[in-house]
Amino acid sequence: MNVSVKSKRIFLSSPHMGGTEMQHVQNAFSENYIAPLGTNVDRFEGKLRDYLSVSGALTTASGTAGLHLGLRLLGVSSNDLVLCQSFTFVATVNPILYQWAHPVFIDSESDTWNMDPDQLERAIKACLAGTLHEYSGLDFFKNRPPQLPKAIVPVHLYGMPANMDRILDIADRYGIPVLEDAAEALGSGIRGRMCGTFGEMGVFSFNGNKIITTSAGGALVSADPSHIENGLFLSSQARDPEIHYQHSMLGYNYRFSNVLAGIGVGQMEVLDEFIEKRRQNFDRYRDGLEGLPGIRFPMEPEGFFSNRWLTTLTFNRERYPTLRIPDLVAYFSEHNIECRPLWKPIHMQPLYHQYPFFGDGFSEHLFDSGICLPSGSNLSTDDVDLVICLLRQYLSACMG
Ligand SMILES: *Cc1c(COP(=O)(O)O)cnc(C)c1O
Repeated sequence: MNVSVKSKRIFLSSPHMGGTEMQHVQNAFSENYIAPLGTNVDRFEGKLRDYLSVSGALTTASGTAGLHLGLRLLGVSSNDLVLCQSFTFVATVNPILYQWAHPVFIDSESDTWNMDPDQLERAIKACLAGTLHEYSGLDFFKNRPPQLPKAIVPVHLYGMPANMDRILDIADRYGIPVLEDAAEALGSGIRGRMCGTFGEMGVFSFNGNKIITTSAGGALVSADPSHIENGLFLSSQARDPEIHYQHSMLGYNYRFSNVLAGIGVGQMEVLDEFIEKRRQNFDRYRDGLEGLPGIRFPMEPEGFFSNRWLTTLTFNRERYPTLRIPDLVAYFSEHNIECRPLWKPIHMQPLYHQYPFFGDGFSEHLFDSGICLPSGSNLSTDDVDLVICLLRQYLSACMG
């Protein structure tokens, strides 16, 4: 195979149109519904409800807006505690600060790379014992009375479902609601139940690099109609039902555009095909790198189904003593290929490192030893094979 620099860049996960999107966008123009409501929004929400088998779906301006609404709907406010997965994109956590609440970070488990149920329970016990100051240098954790956390936010990262059986069991035992960040996990599930529908609410993102995209957008789903109704109210500036403009509560402009919803209607038609393609990418990488020592792919536990939004893998540091993730990313970049380190855990971020963290270092280890490979549903098998070939070459030079 020719491994010289490619002229066409291979992206990590680029938008992939199915073909009918423009037609639905055109409908919005024909009806002159260039607004944050209309038939495309209704149809897109309907398709999401059907696909997820959930009774309520509310589209939002972004996944981040959906997560913010979710916290508001759970009553999270100033000085509340929110238990949150640390190994994630910052958008999972920022809405906690938007509400002036305090995140308490939970490490990941090795099976799913998502919220570790044992660390979750440790953290709850510390909140209830009033001992969070032992885990944080921040003043406001000193002399805090015992406090029941207001919400649990697990993430289904890279499309892999979190260990929801155990997380829900713990959440139920302590009576804490769960808000799922399913931004990367549309179509993933456990034993036939879809990610985003396990907790009190779930949130999806349709940002440009997600499994389906509307360029920007998100959705909040829930089986509880009051969440959808109140969410719609809050996302429309919390306007009271008066003829004049009257407001008794603080609201937001978080509604979704009817033009962009047209893209979403078209994308829903090809979602299952895209998932199949992403899963094929994963299988091809795994088969193509088979036999290489010291590499590991996250595998689906029994009954779990991942949409394989991104194919990820980790390297055994002892096998590859000179391997540095930033160098590997740069190497691929020189070959016009976009790769990415795994998410840097939020408890390691300058903005958040002072908040309490419950863990044993697993997410830090992931950050230090893993990478995301190009995973789009529009990749060719040649693209995947080129990445495999280059990675094999690179690793042979790093072997100990
Ligand atoms: C993309 C993403 C979000 C945020 O979604 P936006 O639509 O970009 O606001 C939140 N959480 C995770 C894990 C994500 O990957």
